[in-house]
Amino acid sequence: MLKSINPVTNEIVKTYQKHSEEGVEKIINSVDKIWHHWRSTSFHHRGQLMQNAASILRSKKEELALLMAQEMGKVKSEGIAEIEKCAWVCEYYAANAESFLENEIIATQASKSYVSYQPLGAILAVMPWNFPFWQVFRFAAPTLMAGNTAVLKHASNVPGCSMAIEEIFREAGFPENVFRSLMIGSPMVEKVIKHKAIKAVSLTGSTPAGKSVAALAGAELKKCVLELGGSDPYLILKDADLELAAKKCAAGRLLNAGQSCIGAKRFIVEEEVYAHFLELFTHEMNAAHFGDPFDEESTMGPMAREDLRDELHQQVVDSVNKGAEVILGGEIPHRKGAFYPPTILENVQPGMPAYDEELFGPVASVIKVKDQEEAIRVANDTDFGLGAAVFTNNLKKGEHIAEIELEAGACFVNDFVKSDPRLPFGGIKTSGFGRELSVHGIKEFMNVKTVFVK
Ligand code: NAP
Repeated sequence: MLKSINPVTNEIVKTYQKHSEEGVEKIINSVDKIWHHWRSTSFHHRGQLMQNAASILRSKKEELALLMAQEMGKVKSEGIAEIEKCAWVCEYYAANAESFLENEIIATQASKSYVSYQPLGAILAVMPWNFPFWQVFRFAAPTLMAGNTAVLKHASNVPGCSMAIEEIFREAGFPENVFRSLMIGSPMVEKVIKHKAIKAVSLTGSTPAGKSVAALAGAELKKCVLELGGSDPYLILKDADLELAAKKCAAGRLLNAGQSCIGAKRFIVEEEVYAHFLELFTHEMNAAHFGDPFDEESTMGPMAREDLRDELHQQVVDSVNKGAEVILGGEIPHRKGAFYPPTILENVQPGMPAYDEELFGPVASVIKVKDQEEAIRVANDTDFGLGAAVFTNNLKKGEHIAEIELEAGACFVNDFVKSDPRLPFGGIKTSGFGRELSVHGIKEFMNVKTVFVK
């Protein structure tokens, strides 16, 4: 049984029957069978269906935001924004997939030679609960537009979102089985990866899950794209607009109750502006109002599950035991639900969880450095490489640090890191490999085929 548990009340909202092994086999075979038809449909036709999906998403945004609030505690305004973004990515690939995948003529001694992008077949997506619609749509929109079909294994705590996504594609007019959700736990993923109809795998989740899925896919010689954890550094240089930096840093840390792979996590501040930045940043973090995700006053909901909240708190306690100091928060509130307050730790050093590990919740690690050079060294002193940001009023310097110095897949100047359908998204180091979104994302699950006509 898969269960939706409301993180505000800890009560079971709904239970879902898991698919049996035979049920999974039947679904994958159906998704494979329809691929032979789906791949031959026109971009125009697929684009119309994808537009329908966008319209359905928009028309149901309140209802879908409620579902997310019930299953993982997202505040209503963020839920609605997430659904709008899903509609955007559907429209973006409906409009651009054909031109992204046009043949590329290459001059050789042949009478005609070119590169053609051909779909691979059924692709497995293993997805996390933190942006339960966005993570799936940013995979599904390019994948289906490219002529592949898809099976989704969503996180076990968001089965309602998983079924709702399958229903949106059905309602939009996609042929039955072009997109299917599997109601399974992670132990069944191995069987799915090994199925001969599954041609490739996309996983968004933690680094340990990525390593496990990459090993399974590697053993089967199936391509995978991995979007994993991060511990994004934010550099606050002495010439930064500190008010802007404090606002952006707090917003980047508290979005989705801090449960974002590209959340701002380590704040590395030059000593000359350290005290002033910390004062402004503490004020911004303290201004967050955490409470029921459907209360209009709440800017932050609970975390998605109590066990995840307890793990985060343990990371805080372990860091404090090793010398970190709590400036704000740091205590589990005396109330029901998976709540954790905005928290700031300073004196964060190597060897502490707050320095070395991902903090997947509303906890900020603040690190004082003597100069820009040390700031860059500390920023890169991590196994992760997903996003990074630098705050400075010298845009030329900021751009140089973003482009050349910081080791990450996306580096922003004077803003917090965000995903955008038009820009590639992904990481380096243990944050994964491969790219989603933009022209790069749609080419990940294609046969880049050479055609040579003598
Ligand atoms: P998670 O525990 O790794 O789970 C992600 C998905 O993988 C779930 O569907 C989960 O299934 C499945 N899974 C877990 N272990 C597995 C295994 N050994 N074999 C096969 N499947 C496995 O991560 P999460 O807690 O849902 O999400 C938080 C993590 O995701 C954070 O580290 C965050 O940074 C990362 N993330 C990365 C991105 C990105 O784009 N880079 C975006 C969002 C989140 P069950 O739920 O059934 O266990």
